[in-house]
Amino acid sequence: MTISKSLALSMFVSLNLLLNTSLTAQNIKSKNLKKGQPNTSMATYEKYIDDNADAHLKEFFELISIPSISSIPSHKPDIEKAAVWIVNKLKAIGITTAQAIATDGNPVVYASWDNAPGKPTVLIYGHYDVQPVKESEWVHSPFVPILEDGKIFGRGASDDKSGVMTTIWALEALLHRDGKLPVNVKFMFDGEEEIGSPHFKNFIIHNKELLKADFALNADGSQFGDTLPSITLGLRGIAQLEFNVKTANVDAHSGQFGGKTPNAVVAMSQIIASFFTKEGNVAVEGFYDKVLPATLQEKEMIKKLDYDSTIDMKILGTTTDVGDRTYSPLERVWYRPTLEVIGMQGGYTAAEGFSNIIPANAMARVACRLVSNQSGKEIIDLIVKHINKNCPPGATVSYKYIDSYARPMQFPTDSKAYQYVADVLTKIYGKPPLQIAAGFTVGPMIDIKEQLGLFTYSLGMEQADERWHASNEYFRLSSMRKGQLLYCYYLLHLANEESKLKK
Ligand SMILES: [Zn+2]
Repeated sequence: MTISKSLALSMFVSLNLLLNTSLTAQNIKSKNLKKGQPNTSMATYEKYIDDNADAHLKEFFELISIPSISSIPSHKPDIEKAAVWIVNKLKAIGITTAQAIATDGNPVVYASWDNAPGKPTVLIYGHYDVQPVKESEWVHSPFVPILEDGKIFGRGASDDKSGVMTTIWALEALLHRDGKLPVNVKFMFDGEEEIGSPHFKNFIIHNKELLKADFALNADGSQFGDTLPSITLGLRGIAQLEFNVKTANVDAHSGQFGGKTPNAVVAMSQIIASFFTKEGNVAVEGFYDKVLPATLQEKEMIKKLDYDSTIDMKILGTTTDVGDRTYSPLERVWYRPTLEVIGMQGGYTAAEGFSNIIPANAMARVACRLVSNQSGKEIIDLIVKHINKNCPPGATVSYKYIDSYARPMQFPTDSKAYQYVADVLTKIYGKPPLQIAAGFTVGPMIDIKEQLGLFTYSLGMEQADERWHASNEYFRLSSMRKGQLLYCYYLLHLANEESKLKK
C-alpha cells in the first residue's frame, strides 16, 4: 500500500504546524491548567493522528474487509466477527468495558469510559453493519478495500464504518496524550441499522441505566461538502406495507381463458396507478392532511444551498426529476412525504422460458417516507382504504402489515446540544454549519429520543456522493483525519463549556 500524495502532504503540513505551535501549546497548556480549563490546543492531537495515519488506514481496511451484511443471514458470522473486532480495538485503546451485548438479532457493541466524575456524559451512536453488494458492479472487490486518488473504496467505508472508526481513533488520540478523556463517553454501535434496527428499541429499554447520558451524537452523519459543514435537523419517517392481489386459484391458460378472465397483474397495476395523480402527487385521500409546509427558514436554507439535482441524476443515471413541481427538488426530498412502490411481482418472470398465462396472483410492497405530523399507522390505514376502494372487479386483496414504523423527526436549534455541535463544526471548517434535513430515516434516533430523552445530533463525515448503498462506495481519506479532529475538539469543547456553566 503506497502512502497517497494527500496523506504525505497532510503529514508535512501538520508537522510544520507542530513545529511552529508546540511552544505556544505549552504556554496555553500551563495558562489553562492555571485556570482549571481543559486544554483545547489541537496540535498534539493532530500529531498523534498524523503519526498513526498508516496504522489507522490498515485498521480501517481490516474492518471494511469483514462483510458484515445484516440483511443476509449467511453473513451472521461476519456480523459477529466485526463486533468482536471493534470490541478488541476499543479494549486496545484502553476502554476495557467494551463488550458485544446480545439482542434478539445482532449484537450492539457497547463501551463506556466514565472516569470523569462531575463531567457530562456523551453517548455516541454508529453502526457496523453494511448494505449487501452487487459484486459485478464494483470496479474493485467491495470487501478488499483499496486507496485510490484519496478515496478508500469498500462496502461500508463511508456508511458507517467511517463513523465507528473516526470516533474510536479520536478517543485513542485523547487517551494517548492525556491518559484520560475530558468528559465521560459511551459508545453504542448498532449491528442492524441497514435493516431498520428492529431490536434497537428493546436494547435501549433493557439498558437505560447503562446508556444514561447528557448529550448524544450520531456518527452515521454527513457533511454537505468537503468545505461545507452541515447539521441534519430533520429526518423523514417511514411506513411500509405488503399486499397481494388474487384473481383466481390457479394461473389460467391465456389462450383458453383470455378475454373473459381477470388478470391479477393487470389488477395490481391498476391499483398502483391509482396511487398517483398525473402531477406526481399521491392520490390517496387524506395522505397530505397532517403535512406542515416547510418553514420560511427551511426554505431560505434550501435557497442558500447551491443544490443541483442533476448531480444526483448523474449518480443514479436518471434522465428527469419527478414529483410535484410546486416544490423544489430538495424540498420534495426533505419536507414532502412520498409513496414508493419498492417491489412488485406477478406472472411468469423467470429468466428462462416463457409462459402464456393469466396470472392469478400478484404482490407489491410500498414504503412511505413521512414528514412533520404524519403517523405511520394512520398512513397505512389510509392506503388500505384506498386499495379496497380502487380494487378492480374480480380481484381480492390481502395485506401483510410491516409493524416497524419510524416517525419523522425534527431537531431543535435553540439547545446547548445543538450549539456545541455548531461550535465544533465552525471551529474545524472555519465557517458555521448549514442547517439541512435528510430524506432518509434513522430509526434509532427516535428510540434514543423516546427512551433516553436525548436528541442525537448528527456529527459524521459521510458525504452524499460517496455512493452509500450503491456500488463502488468510498470514503475520503481526508475525512478520516478531519473526523478525528472533529470528535477530539467536540469532547474538549464540551468539557470547557460545561465547566464554565458550573462556575
Ligand atoms: Zn448508515
